[in-house]
Amino acid sequence: MVRALVIAALVALTTAVALMVSPILAHKGPVRPAPKVVPSSPTNAQSANGQSSAALGAPLGARTVAAKANRTERIHWRNSVAVGLPEAGRLIRGVRLPPEGRHYFTWDPILTRQPNRPWRRWATDDLIRTVLRVIRAYARAHPGAPRVGIGDLSRPRGGDFGPQFGGIGHATHQNGLDADVYYPLRSEAERSPLSVDEVNLRLAQDLVDRFVRAGAVQVYVGPNTGLTGPPDVVEAIPYHDNHLHVRIAG
Ligand SMILES: [Zn+2]
Repeated sequence: MVRALVIAALVALTTAVALMVSPILAHKGPVRPAPKVVPSSPTNAQSANGQSSAALGAPLGARTVAAKANRTERIHWRNSVAVGLPEAGRLIRGVRLPPEGRHYFTWDPILTRQPNRPWRRWATDDLIRTVLRVIRAYARAHPGAPRVGIGDLSRPRGGDFGPQFGGIGHATHQNGLDADVYYPLRSEAERSPLSVDEVNLRLAQDLVDRFVRAGAVQVYVGPNTGLTGPPDVVEAIPYHDNHLHVRIAG
C-alpha cells in the first residue's frame, strides 16, 4: 500500500514536471521567464494533488471521511424507559450509540467486524451515559491503551434478542439496560478476543472494577478469565471469556 502510494506520487510528480517542462521544450524562441513556467501558484499545486488523489487515493479519502462522520455522529438524547425485565421487556425512547468514538469502537459479534449494525446499538440514555463515562475515565487512566470494543446493547424498541438475530442470541438485552464490552487485547488490535490468552487481563480487570464502581448491578465475566469483584455483582458464567456483560439498574 505504502509502496503503491509512493510510486503513484512519483508518477504524479513526473507527469507534473513533464507538463511544466514541455512548453519550454516546445518553445522555439527564447526560454520564457521563470515565473510563467514554474508552477508555484496554489492552483497548479492543488490540481496536481487533486488529480493524483482522485485517481489513486479516493478509497482512502472516502474511508477517512466515513471515519470522521462516524466519530461526529451526534447522540440524540431522550429520556428512555426500560420496561419489564432484561430477559422479558422492551425499550421506550431508546438512544442509539454512535458507531465509534474517540475511546471506543463497536463490534458486530455476528459479522465479526466493525462497526456493529445500528439496530444492535440501542439502550436507555442512562446506560449509554454510564458506558461512555466509564470508558472515558478508563482511557484517561491508560493513555496508551487501545479503544474499548462495545458489542450488542438492545434492539431499537428492545424485546427479544434471541438466536434469530444471529449466533446463540441473548437471553437478556431486552430493555436497554445490558451492554457487552469486549476485553482489551494484549496485541492492542481492535476486535473481539478469540481466546482468554489474547486478553490483557490487567486492563480487563480495571474495566470490571470501573463498571462496579459506576453502580452496575451485574457484571458477567468468563469462567476462564480469573476476573473478580464483589460476589453479589461480578459473576463468572459461560460464553463470557471474550467480553464482559454489564447491567445497570432500571
Ligand atoms: Zn450480554
